[in-house]
Amino acid sequence: MKAVCWHDTHDVRVENVPDPTILNPRDAIIKITLTAICGSDLHLYDGVIPSMQAGDILGHEFMGEVVEVGSEVTNLKVGDRVVVPFPIACGNCFYCQNELYSACDNSNPNAWMSEKLYGHTVAGIFGYSHLMGGYAGGQAEYVRVPFADVGPFKVPDSLSDEQVLFLTDIFPTGYMAAENCEIKPGDTIAVWGAGPVGQFVIKSAFLLGAERVIAIDRVESRLLLAQEQGGANTLNYEDDDFMEALQDMTGGRGPDACIDAVGLEAHGTGLDAWYDRAKQALMMQTDRPTAVRQAIQACRKGGIVSIPGVYGGFLDKFPLGAAFGKGLTFKMGQTHVHRYLQPLLEHIAQGSIDPTFIITHRMPLTEAAEGYKLFKQERDECVKVVLEP
Ligand code: NAD
Ligand code: ZN
Repeated sequence: MKAVCWHDTHDVRVENVPDPTILNPRDAIIKITLTAICGSDLHLYDGVIPSMQAGDILGHEFMGEVVEVGSEVTNLKVGDRVVVPFPIACGNCFYCQNELYSACDNSNPNAWMSEKLYGHTVAGIFGYSHLMGGYAGGQAEYVRVPFADVGPFKVPDSLSDEQVLFLTDIFPTGYMAAENCEIKPGDTIAVWGAGPVGQFVIKSAFLLGAERVIAIDRVESRLLLAQEQGGANTLNYEDDDFMEALQDMTGGRGPDACIDAVGLEAHGTGLDAWYDRAKQALMMQTDRPTAVRQAIQACRKGGIVSIPGVYGGFLDKFPLGAAFGKGLTFKMGQTHVHRYLQPLLEHIAQGSIDPTFIITHRMPLTEAAEGYKLFKQERDECVKVVLEP
């Protein structure tokens, strides 16, 4: 089959690789009908997530048709049309039982790696490094799905692939980030990053009752999308006084909650951003926390900082003093996608959100290398690329 393979920083190739086969009785094989490139894939593309190996198959946002099931998968049959959550979860452990699917104790065969780094293991993720289990991803013609009795979720024929694909990741991610803000009527939410996750944060914050959302980025086309599709106010972080503007817009009090939908590869114009770049280049820190620093600085006293943006290791000049002084609450993590499938599918089916608004580029899987380049450089006003095998 054809698959998108990582080879090195900024080097992904579409190659012929062996078809996946059933390895365990709880596996299923899915024939991919649509897949997408995620901002998280850019962290792999940029080489900032460790433990990638040449030839690893990428992709964790995918859907398709069940073509084979293992002997213990009784809830799926050949021909079912499913979306597949990006975290792999066993369904049985303490964490799965408590709906903390991305913390699953049993889905990461390389548990020892993340136990060393994080103290405990994190769940396996499709196509996302050996630290996250070394699973082949779904930017391919076929994929093996472990614990297929838990993850894959059947979708109705009345909805198109493009309408349901983002249930695999970015819609639940935006939603959980907003839910973590415990939004009350009248609240103002600020979100750093108007990429795909930021755009779903905006939609979700309004669905959850926010009065106002302020989106911060520097890419004008994304800020425009946030305004026109999301109904957000916008600020450009390259304007020197944007942090003051944010305070002015909130009566000097600051947003009730601040969301970092940027993660470890934040850009910045300030002294701290240059410092981060230098330290990262010298391998003295792994992550660049410009956005989360600003989120902490801007947030009102007693507010919430919600972090869907991915962080991987260690960061420097983290203003814990400001967070402590203001009594902030932090919420973060990989999304527990399984939890949100049914309720968010209902929002799509009822028409309260049409997730296709995010798609700017449709390409055949064979052009994935160009898709990564476009998305990385936000060339051509690229927001979201979907790939069709
Ligand atoms: P993206 O790269 O398309 O978007 C990031 C946006 O942030 C870009 O538009 C960029 O211009 C902007 N940005 C950069 N520095 C900034 C700064 N200092 N202030 C404000 N904006 C800044 O990516 P995406 O697909 O939207 O994903 C966003 C983040 O969410 C990534 O870190 C991704 O890995 C993460 N993510 C997390 C989960 C999860 O489960 N928690 C799931 C999906 C994605
Ligand atoms: Zn993703």
